[in-house]
Amino acid sequence: LKIANARVGGGGAMPSGLPLIEQMAIETGLRAALEQDQLTLEYQPIFDADHGVAAIEALVRWRRPSGEIVSPDVFIPVAESSGLIAQLDRWVMAHAIRDVGSLRGTPLASVQVNINITADELLDPGLSGRLTSLALEHQVDCERICLELTERSMMTDPQRVQAVMTRLRALGFKISIDDFGTGYSSLSRIMSLPVTSIKMDRMFVRGLPDDTKSGAIVRTILGLGKHSQLPVVAEGVENERQALYLLQFGCSHFQGYLFGRPAPLDQLLDKLSMPSG
Ligand code: C2E
Ligand code: CA
Ligand code: CA
Ligand code: CA
Repeated sequence: LKIANARVGGGGAMPSGLPLIEQMAIETGLRAALEQDQLTLEYQPIFDADHGVAAIEALVRWRRPSGEIVSPDVFIPVAESSGLIAQLDRWVMAHAIRDVGSLRGTPLASVQVNINITADELLDPGLSGRLTSLALEHQVDCERICLELTERSMMTDPQRVQAVMTRLRALGFKISIDDFGTGYSSLSRIMSLPVTSIKMDRMFVRGLPDDTKSGAIVRTILGLGKHSQLPVVAEGVENERQALYLLQFGCSHFQGYLFGRPAPLDQLLDKLSMPSG
């Protein structure tokens, strides 16, 4: 999908661009982090046009024992190139599904959870089994679990990806195309995959409403969503002018600092339980 000329801010396994020695240090640290529970999850709300929380996206956080916070934009690419990513994705899946299972009796009792999954884990034959047993264990309907897959990871092995997605959909799981518009996949190919929503990358939202090129791309993506009857989630909505533009052109779902930053689940719940909401 050659909408974007540059891959800015796209999620995923771009070569990390770090010196090898630094990559190795991150890899060693991450291995320990996975074993010693130094990872945590934050959740960012996704709102629908009626201001209800439609979903929460799990975003992994790594704080080293020294207190230093490492950004996922730094350690996810290293995890991908070092083969640690499947283990990390599994850690996130297990904790995110357990977390949503604990929401009974709260304002988020039936919320959907969005989990970022990379190509490695998507193509792992054990994925659907792991997901269904976690859902069963924590009494979370499969329909409440949405896997976010980047456009790029969907194109690693299109035939196998299509088969896995079809199986996951048959089990009830939802699938969203993440960072939509930042890859170079063929539009017809990507739109033929059994996805349930589209996440418009924040690089297109950033320039709204004044940048005419961003506007044209955003309207195209919204039109595509409408045509395919898929909801479009706009990422990175930071101000009201962006939100109004998106709303005006039919965007149905919104995520970004304007609506809420990623936060630990208890903080998000506190905020949503406040009378002024
Ligand atoms: P992503 O999946 O595109 O996630 C959205 C990123 O945008 C998050 O960055 C989020 O904190 C940030 N964001 C949200 N709203 C705004 C906004 O209004 N303005 C701006 N400037 N940024 C906003 P984060 O948490 O640093 O994650 C970066 C990337 O790392 C994610 O991009 C995703 O590709 C990857 N990632 C994060 N958590 C996981 C995970 O659990 N598993 C995997 N495989 N990848 C993850
Ligand atoms: Ca991104
Ligand atoms: Ca995502
Ligand atoms: Ca994204």
